[in-house]
Amino acid sequence: MSVRPRTVTVLGATGSIGASTLDVIARHPERYRVHALTAHRSREPLLERCRVHQPAVAVLGDERDAAWLRQRLREAGLATEVLAGAEALVEVAEAGEVDVVMSAIVGAAGLLPTLAAVRAGKRVLLANKEALVMSGALFMDAVAGSGATLLPIDSEHNAIYQCLPAEHRGGLGRHGVTQLLLTASGGPFRGRSGAELAAVTPEQACAHPNWSMGRKISVDSATLMNKGLELIEACWLFDARPDQVQVVVHPQSVIHSMAAYADGSVIAQLGNPDMRTPIAFGLAWPERIDAGVEALDLFAVARLDFEAPDEEAFPCLRLAREAMAAGGTAPAVLNAANEVAVAAFLDRRLGFTGIGELVARVRDARPVAAAADLETILEADALARQAAHDWLNRC
Ligand code: NAD
Ligand code: MG
Repeated sequence: MSVRPRTVTVLGATGSIGASTLDVIARHPERYRVHALTAHRSREPLLERCRVHQPAVAVLGDERDAAWLRQRLREAGLATEVLAGAEALVEVAEAGEVDVVMSAIVGAAGLLPTLAAVRAGKRVLLANKEALVMSGALFMDAVAGSGATLLPIDSEHNAIYQCLPAEHRGGLGRHGVTQLLLTASGGPFRGRSGAELAAVTPEQACAHPNWSMGRKISVDSATLMNKGLELIEACWLFDARPDQVQVVVHPQSVIHSMAAYADGSVIAQLGNPDMRTPIAFGLAWPERIDAGVEALDLFAVARLDFEAPDEEAFPCLRLAREAMAAGGTAPAVLNAANEVAVAAFLDRRLGFTGIGELVARVRDARPVAAAADLETILEADALARQAAHDWLNRC
Protein backbone atom coordinates (compact mmCIF):
# COMPACT_ATOMS: atom_id res chain seq x y z
CA MET A 1 0.00 0.00 0.00
CA SER A 2 1.44 3.38 -0.89
CA VAL A 3 1.14 6.10 1.75
CA ARG A 4 0.59 9.76 0.87
CA PRO A 5 3.81 11.76 1.38
CA ARG A 6 3.69 14.16 4.31
CA THR A 7 3.55 17.82 3.30
CA VAL A 8 6.07 20.08 4.98
CA THR A 9 6.35 23.83 5.44
CA VAL A 10 9.90 25.00 6.15
CA LEU A 11 9.90 28.36 7.94
CA GLY A 12 13.40 29.80 7.56
CA ALA A 13 14.27 27.66 4.53
CA THR A 14 17.39 29.63 3.57
CA GLY A 15 19.08 29.31 6.96
CA SER A 16 21.41 26.69 8.34
CA ILE A 17 18.59 24.54 9.79
CA GLY A 18 16.50 25.13 6.65
CA ALA A 19 19.32 23.80 4.47
CA SER A 20 19.78 20.70 6.65
CA THR A 21 16.01 20.08 6.62
CA LEU A 22 15.82 20.25 2.84
CA ASP A 23 18.84 17.95 2.61
CA VAL A 24 17.04 15.28 4.66
CA ILE A 25 13.75 15.79 2.77
CA ALA A 26 15.54 15.38 -0.58
CA ARG A 27 16.79 11.96 0.55
CA HIS A 28 13.19 10.74 0.99
CA PRO A 29 11.03 12.02 -1.88
CA GLU A 30 8.54 9.18 -1.33
CA ARG A 31 7.94 10.34 2.27
CA TYR A 32 7.95 14.15 2.12
CA ARG A 33 6.67 16.85 -0.20
CA VAL A 34 7.40 20.55 0.36
CA HIS A 35 4.31 22.75 0.64
CA ALA A 36 5.96 26.10 1.45
CA LEU A 37 9.43 27.57 1.80
CA THR A 38 9.98 30.92 3.54
CA ALA A 39 12.85 33.38 3.88
CA HIS A 40 13.19 36.97 5.02
CA ARG A 41 15.43 38.81 2.56
CA SER A 42 17.51 36.06 0.93
CA ARG A 43 15.55 35.93 -2.32
CA GLU A 44 18.26 34.34 -4.48
CA PRO A 45 18.84 31.36 -2.16
CA LEU A 46 15.05 30.98 -1.92
CA LEU A 47 14.76 30.95 -5.73
CA GLU A 48 17.38 28.20 -5.84
CA ARG A 49 15.49 26.12 -3.28
CA CYS A 50 12.20 26.67 -5.13
CA ARG A 51 13.78 25.33 -8.32
CA VAL A 52 14.86 22.16 -6.52
CA HIS A 53 11.84 21.52 -4.27
CA GLN A 54 9.03 23.12 -6.31
CA PRO A 55 6.86 24.19 -3.36
CA ALA A 56 3.25 25.27 -3.82
CA VAL A 57 4.02 28.53 -1.97
CA ALA A 58 7.10 30.67 -1.26
CA VAL A 59 7.14 33.57 1.22
CA LEU A 60 9.52 36.55 1.45
CA GLY A 61 9.64 39.46 3.89
CA ASP A 62 8.49 42.23 1.57
CA GLU A 63 6.50 42.68 -1.60
CA ARG A 64 9.42 44.00 -3.71
CA ASP A 65 11.43 40.82 -3.18
CA ALA A 66 8.28 38.75 -3.68
CA ALA A 67 7.65 40.42 -7.07
CA TRP A 68 11.25 39.67 -8.08
CA LEU A 69 10.87 36.01 -7.10
CA ARG A 70 7.47 35.72 -8.82
CA GLN A 71 9.04 36.93 -12.07
CA ARG A 72 12.02 34.54 -11.87
CA LEU A 73 9.77 31.57 -11.08
CA ARG A 74 7.49 32.38 -13.97
CA GLU A 75 10.52 32.53 -16.30
CA ALA A 76 11.57 29.13 -14.99
CA GLY A 77 8.08 27.76 -15.74
CA LEU A 78 7.28 27.04 -12.08
CA ALA A 79 3.78 27.45 -10.65
CA THR A 80 4.87 28.39 -7.11
CA GLU A 81 2.67 31.12 -5.62
CA VAL A 82 4.73 33.90 -3.98
CA LEU A 83 3.47 35.77 -0.90
CA ALA A 84 5.01 38.47 1.28
CA GLY A 85 4.99 39.48 4.94
CA ALA A 86 4.37 38.16 8.43
CA GLU A 87 0.74 37.19 7.79
CA ALA A 88 1.82 34.95 4.92
CA LEU A 89 4.15 33.10 7.33
CA VAL A 90 1.17 32.36 9.55
CA GLU A 91 -0.86 31.29 6.52
CA VAL A 92 1.66 28.67 5.34
CA ALA A 93 2.19 27.44 8.93
CA GLU A 94 -1.49 26.71 9.54
CA ALA A 95 -2.62 25.74 6.00
CA GLY A 96 -4.97 22.76 5.99
CA GLU A 97 -2.87 20.69 3.58
CA VAL A 98 0.26 20.93 5.77
CA ASP A 99 1.21 18.02 8.06
CA VAL A 100 4.61 19.14 9.36
CA VAL A 101 6.05 22.59 10.09
CA MET A 102 9.77 23.08 10.57
CA SER A 103 10.12 26.18 12.76
CA ALA A 104 13.58 27.47 11.78
CA ILE A 105 13.21 31.24 11.62
CA VAL A 106 15.75 32.90 13.90
CA GLY A 107 14.54 35.00 16.83
CA ALA A 108 11.23 36.48 17.92
CA ALA A 109 10.01 36.70 14.30
CA GLY A 110 9.35 32.96 14.54
CA LEU A 111 6.86 33.23 17.39
CA LEU A 112 3.59 33.96 15.56
CA PRO A 113 3.96 31.42 12.73
CA THR A 114 5.18 28.73 15.15
CA LEU A 115 2.26 29.38 17.46
CA ALA A 116 -0.08 29.26 14.46
CA ALA A 117 1.29 25.82 13.54
CA VAL A 118 0.84 24.65 17.13
CA ARG A 119 -2.72 25.96 17.32
CA ALA A 120 -3.55 24.24 14.03
CA GLY A 121 -2.44 20.93 15.58
CA LYS A 122 0.50 20.29 13.25
CA ARG A 123 3.57 18.20 13.87
CA VAL A 124 5.88 21.07 14.86
CA LEU A 125 9.63 20.58 14.64
CA LEU A 126 10.95 23.26 16.97
CA ALA A 127 14.37 24.69 16.17
CA ASN A 128 13.35 28.31 16.90
CA LYS A 129 14.01 28.23 20.65
CA GLU A 130 13.35 31.98 21.03
CA ALA A 131 9.61 31.40 20.40
CA LEU A 132 9.31 28.99 23.32
CA VAL A 133 11.56 31.10 25.58
CA MET A 134 9.33 34.12 24.99
CA SER A 135 5.96 32.48 25.39
CA GLY A 136 6.68 29.43 27.66
CA ALA A 137 3.43 28.50 29.42
CA LEU A 138 1.22 29.95 26.70
CA PHE A 139 3.06 27.92 24.05
CA MET A 140 2.89 24.65 26.02
CA ASP A 141 -0.79 25.22 26.84
CA ALA A 142 -1.45 25.70 23.12
CA VAL A 143 0.30 22.38 22.39
CA ALA A 144 -1.82 20.61 25.00
CA GLY A 145 -5.00 22.32 23.77
CA SER A 146 -4.62 21.55 20.08
CA GLY A 147 -3.04 18.12 20.31
CA ALA A 148 -0.08 19.28 18.20
CA THR A 149 2.95 16.98 18.19
CA LEU A 150 5.88 19.05 19.39
CA LEU A 151 9.29 17.53 18.67
CA PRO A 152 12.45 19.35 19.76
CA ILE A 153 15.10 19.86 17.09
CA ASP A 154 17.67 21.71 19.19
CA SER A 155 20.23 18.91 19.47
CA GLU A 156 20.32 18.92 23.29
CA HIS A 157 16.55 18.77 23.68
CA ASN A 158 16.24 16.21 20.94
CA ALA A 159 18.82 14.12 22.84
CA ILE A 160 16.91 14.49 26.13
CA TYR A 161 13.67 13.61 24.35
CA GLN A 162 15.34 10.40 23.20
CA CYS A 163 16.64 9.67 26.73
CA LEU A 164 13.27 10.11 28.49
CA PRO A 165 10.41 7.61 28.69
CA ALA A 166 7.96 7.98 25.79
CA GLU A 167 5.37 9.53 28.14
CA HIS A 168 7.19 12.10 30.27
CA ARG A 169 4.51 14.68 31.01
CA GLY A 170 3.55 15.64 34.56
CA GLY A 171 6.94 16.41 36.06
CA LEU A 172 10.25 14.59 35.82
CA GLY A 173 10.02 13.09 39.33
CA ARG A 174 7.01 10.98 38.40
CA HIS A 175 9.16 9.10 35.93
CA GLY A 176 12.19 8.65 38.20
CA VAL A 177 14.22 11.34 36.41
CA THR A 178 16.34 13.32 38.87
CA GLN A 179 18.22 15.66 36.54
CA LEU A 180 18.64 16.72 32.93
CA LEU A 181 22.29 17.14 31.94
CA LEU A 182 22.44 19.75 29.21
CA THR A 183 25.77 19.56 27.41
CA ALA A 184 27.51 22.66 26.02
CA SER A 185 30.56 22.84 23.78
CA GLY A 186 31.68 25.95 25.66
CA GLY A 187 31.87 27.84 22.34
CA PRO A 188 34.96 29.32 20.67
CA PHE A 189 36.09 31.23 23.80
CA ARG A 190 36.00 28.43 26.36
CA GLY A 191 38.74 28.91 28.95
CA ARG A 192 39.14 32.67 28.38
CA SER A 193 38.75 35.17 31.21
CA GLY A 194 36.37 38.15 31.16
CA ALA A 195 39.29 40.49 30.44
CA GLU A 196 40.43 38.39 27.47
CA LEU A 197 36.92 38.46 26.02
CA ALA A 198 36.60 42.24 25.81
CA ALA A 199 38.28 42.56 22.39
CA VAL A 200 36.98 39.50 20.53
CA THR A 201 35.47 40.15 17.08
CA PRO A 202 32.26 38.96 15.38
CA GLU A 203 34.36 36.78 13.04
CA GLN A 204 35.99 35.02 16.01
CA ALA A 205 32.62 34.63 17.75
CA CYS A 206 31.03 33.10 14.65
CA ALA A 207 33.81 30.53 14.17
CA HIS A 208 32.28 27.75 16.26
CA PRO A 209 34.61 24.80 16.88
CA ASN A 210 32.04 22.01 16.27
CA TRP A 211 28.85 23.31 14.66
CA SER A 212 28.19 25.40 11.54
CA MET A 213 25.21 27.65 12.32
CA GLY A 214 23.60 31.03 11.63
CA ARG A 215 25.36 34.14 12.98
CA LYS A 216 22.93 34.91 15.81
CA ILE A 217 23.05 31.46 17.40
CA SER A 218 26.84 31.37 16.86
CA VAL A 219 27.23 34.54 18.97
CA ASP A 220 24.79 33.09 21.53
CA SER A 221 26.98 30.00 21.72
CA ALA A 222 30.04 32.16 22.30
CA THR A 223 28.40 34.11 25.18
CA LEU A 224 26.69 30.96 26.58
CA MET A 225 23.35 32.77 26.17
CA ASN A 226 22.48 29.90 23.84
CA LYS A 227 22.86 27.51 26.77
CA GLY A 228 20.80 29.88 28.91
CA LEU A 229 18.00 29.96 26.33
CA GLU A 230 18.27 26.17 26.12
CA LEU A 231 17.96 25.85 29.89
CA ILE A 232 14.67 27.77 29.69
CA GLU A 233 13.63 25.69 26.68
CA ALA A 234 14.33 22.46 28.62
CA CYS A 235 12.23 23.63 31.59
CA TRP A 236 9.19 24.17 29.35
CA LEU A 237 9.61 21.14 27.12
CA PHE A 238 10.20 18.65 29.92
CA ASP A 239 8.32 20.26 32.80
CA ALA A 240 11.57 20.72 34.75
CA ARG A 241 12.57 23.27 37.39
CA PRO A 242 15.72 25.30 36.62
CA ASP A 243 17.58 23.50 39.45
CA GLN A 244 16.84 20.16 37.73
CA VAL A 245 18.84 21.22 34.68
CA GLN A 246 22.63 20.98 35.04
CA VAL A 247 24.81 22.52 32.33
CA VAL A 248 27.87 20.37 31.57
CA VAL A 249 30.61 21.72 29.30
CA HIS A 250 31.65 18.91 26.97
CA PRO A 251 34.02 20.30 24.32
CA GLN A 252 33.79 17.38 21.85
CA SER A 253 29.99 17.84 21.27
CA VAL A 254 29.52 14.09 20.86
CA ILE A 255 27.16 13.56 23.79
CA HIS A 256 24.22 15.82 22.91
CA SER A 257 22.70 15.68 26.43
CA MET A 258 21.65 13.19 29.10
CA ALA A 259 18.96 12.27 31.62
CA ALA A 260 19.88 11.07 35.12
CA TYR A 261 17.53 8.65 36.93
CA ALA A 262 16.85 7.87 40.60
CA ASP A 263 18.51 4.45 40.35
CA GLY A 264 21.85 6.00 39.32
CA SER A 265 21.45 5.41 35.59
CA VAL A 266 22.49 8.21 33.26
CA ILE A 267 21.20 7.83 29.69
CA ALA A 268 22.98 9.78 26.97
CA GLN A 269 22.40 10.29 23.25
CA LEU A 270 25.58 10.41 21.15
CA GLY A 271 26.27 11.22 17.53
CA ASN A 272 28.35 13.33 15.20
CA PRO A 273 27.54 17.05 15.58
CA ASP A 274 25.23 17.30 12.56
CA MET A 275 21.73 18.81 12.83
CA ARG A 276 20.42 16.41 10.20
CA THR A 277 20.21 13.74 12.94
CA PRO A 278 17.63 15.55 15.13
CA ILE A 279 15.86 16.85 11.99
CA ALA A 280 15.47 13.33 10.58
CA PHE A 281 14.31 12.16 14.01
CA GLY A 282 11.62 14.85 14.06
CA LEU A 283 10.48 14.24 10.49
CA ALA A 284 10.17 10.47 10.82
CA TRP A 285 9.33 9.93 14.53
CA PRO A 286 8.57 7.32 15.76
CA GLU A 287 10.33 5.72 12.79
CA ARG A 288 14.02 6.19 11.98
CA ILE A 289 15.31 7.20 8.56
CA ASP A 290 18.67 7.87 6.94
CA ALA A 291 19.83 11.43 7.67
CA GLY A 292 22.97 11.37 5.54
CA VAL A 293 25.05 11.53 8.73
CA GLU A 294 28.14 9.37 9.07
CA ALA A 295 28.17 6.74 11.81
CA LEU A 296 29.95 7.85 14.96
CA ASP A 297 33.53 6.58 15.10
CA LEU A 298 34.30 6.27 18.82
CA PHE A 299 37.94 5.38 18.16
CA ALA A 300 38.35 8.64 16.26
CA VAL A 301 36.62 10.54 19.10
CA ALA A 302 38.92 8.71 21.57
CA ARG A 303 37.99 10.76 24.65
CA LEU A 304 35.11 12.67 26.19
CA ASP A 305 35.83 15.59 28.55
CA PHE A 306 33.50 17.37 30.97
CA GLU A 307 33.84 20.57 33.00
CA ALA A 308 31.65 23.09 34.82
CA PRO A 309 30.68 26.29 32.96
CA ASP A 310 32.49 29.52 33.91
CA GLU A 311 29.63 31.84 34.90
CA GLU A 312 32.06 34.62 35.92
CA ALA A 313 33.40 35.09 32.40
CA PHE A 314 30.07 34.14 30.76
CA PRO A 315 27.31 35.80 32.83
CA CYS A 316 24.57 35.21 30.22
CA LEU A 317 23.93 31.67 31.48
CA ARG A 318 23.23 33.00 34.97
CA LEU A 319 21.04 35.81 33.59
CA ALA A 320 18.92 33.26 31.76
CA ARG A 321 18.56 31.03 34.81
CA GLU A 322 17.48 34.06 36.84
CA ALA A 323 14.96 35.07 34.17
CA MET A 324 13.40 31.60 34.26
CA ALA A 325 13.21 31.75 38.06
CA ALA A 326 11.61 35.23 37.88
CA GLY A 327 9.00 33.85 35.45
CA GLY A 328 6.27 35.84 33.68
CA THR A 329 7.63 38.16 31.00
CA ALA A 330 11.25 37.96 32.29
CA PRO A 331 12.41 35.40 29.66
CA ALA A 332 10.81 37.46 26.86
CA VAL A 333 12.67 40.56 28.12
CA LEU A 334 15.94 38.60 28.32
CA ASN A 335 15.47 37.31 24.79
CA ALA A 336 14.57 40.71 23.32
CA ALA A 337 17.52 42.47 24.97
CA ASN A 338 19.83 39.71 23.79
CA GLU A 339 18.59 39.94 20.19
CA VAL A 340 19.30 43.69 20.14
CA ALA A 341 22.68 43.19 21.84
CA VAL A 342 23.79 40.44 19.43
CA ALA A 343 22.77 42.52 16.39
CA ALA A 344 24.74 45.49 17.81
CA PHE A 345 27.77 43.25 18.42
CA LEU A 346 27.60 41.87 14.86
CA ASP A 347 27.40 45.51 13.64
CA ARG A 348 30.46 46.40 15.77
CA ARG A 349 28.44 48.89 17.83
CA LEU A 350 28.86 46.87 21.04
CA GLY A 351 31.76 44.87 22.47
CA PHE A 352 31.41 41.17 23.23
CA THR A 353 31.21 41.62 27.02
CA GLY A 354 28.70 44.42 26.43
CA ILE A 355 26.13 41.78 25.43
CA GLY A 356 25.71 40.45 28.98
CA GLU A 357 25.92 43.97 30.37
CA LEU A 358 23.15 45.24 28.11
CA VAL A 359 20.92 42.25 28.92
CA ALA A 360 21.41 42.82 32.67
CA ARG A 361 20.62 46.55 32.35
CA VAL A 362 17.43 45.96 30.40
CA ARG A 363 16.41 43.27 32.89
CA ASP A 364 16.92 45.77 35.75
CA ALA A 365 14.96 48.47 33.91
CA ARG A 366 11.90 46.40 32.98
CA PRO A 367 9.32 45.20 35.52
CA VAL A 368 8.26 41.54 35.37
CA ALA A 369 4.57 41.05 34.53
CA ALA A 370 2.52 37.86 34.43
CA ALA A 371 2.73 36.48 30.87
CA ALA A 372 -1.04 36.20 30.78
CA ASP A 373 -1.58 36.52 27.03
CA LEU A 374 0.24 37.02 23.77
CA GLU A 375 -0.32 40.81 23.78
CA THR A 376 1.46 41.13 27.16
CA ILE A 377 4.39 39.06 25.89
CA LEU A 378 4.71 41.03 22.64
CA GLU A 379 4.51 44.31 24.57
CA ALA A 380 7.24 43.18 26.99
CA ASP A 381 9.35 42.22 23.96
CA ALA A 382 8.81 45.61 22.29
CA LEU A 383 9.51 47.66 25.44
CA ALA A 384 12.66 45.64 26.19
CA ARG A 385 13.93 46.27 22.64
CA GLN A 386 13.23 49.97 23.11
CA ALA A 387 15.11 50.03 26.44
CA ALA A 388 18.03 48.19 24.82
CA HIS A 389 18.19 50.66 21.90
CA ASP A 390 17.98 53.62 24.32
CA TRP A 391 20.91 52.26 26.30
CA LEU A 392 22.94 51.65 23.12
CA ASN A 393 22.22 55.20 21.92
CA ARG A 394 23.28 56.68 25.27
CA CYS A 395 26.63 54.83 25.16
P1 NAD B 1 20.00 31.32 10.09
O1 NAD B 1 20.33 32.72 10.41
O2 NAD B 1 20.97 30.48 9.34
O3 NAD B 1 18.60 31.27 9.29
C1 NAD B 1 17.48 31.99 9.71
C2 NAD B 1 16.32 31.86 8.75
O4 NAD B 1 15.25 32.69 9.23
C3 NAD B 1 16.62 32.33 7.31
O5 NAD B 1 15.89 31.55 6.40
C4 NAD B 1 16.08 33.76 7.29
O6 NAD B 1 15.69 34.19 6.01
C5 NAD B 1 14.88 33.64 8.22
N1 NAD B 1 14.57 34.90 8.90
C6 NAD B 1 15.44 35.72 9.55
N2 NAD B 1 14.79 36.79 10.05
C7 NAD B 1 13.49 36.64 9.73
C8 NAD B 1 12.33 37.44 9.93
N3 NAD B 1 12.38 38.61 10.58
N4 NAD B 1 11.16 37.00 9.43
C9 NAD B 1 11.08 35.82 8.76
N5 NAD B 1 12.15 35.03 8.52
C10 NAD B 1 13.34 35.43 9.01
O7 NAD B 1 19.63 30.62 11.49
P2 NAD B 1 19.80 29.09 11.91
O8 NAD B 1 21.17 28.86 12.43
O9 NAD B 1 19.27 28.19 10.85
O10 NAD B 1 18.83 29.03 13.19
C11 NAD B 1 17.43 29.06 13.06
C12 NAD B 1 16.80 28.77 14.42
O11 NAD B 1 17.16 27.45 14.83
C13 NAD B 1 17.29 29.70 15.53
O12 NAD B 1 16.24 29.97 16.41
C14 NAD B 1 18.36 28.88 16.24
O13 NAD B 1 18.49 29.21 17.61
C15 NAD B 1 17.81 27.48 16.08
N6 NAD B 1 18.85 26.43 16.11
C16 NAD B 1 19.81 26.41 15.17
C17 NAD B 1 20.80 25.42 15.20
C18 NAD B 1 21.88 25.35 14.13
O14 NAD B 1 22.68 24.41 14.16
N7 NAD B 1 21.95 26.27 13.20
C19 NAD B 1 20.80 24.48 16.23
C20 NAD B 1 19.78 24.54 17.18
C21 NAD B 1 18.81 25.50 17.12
MG1 MG C 1 21.51 23.47 20.89
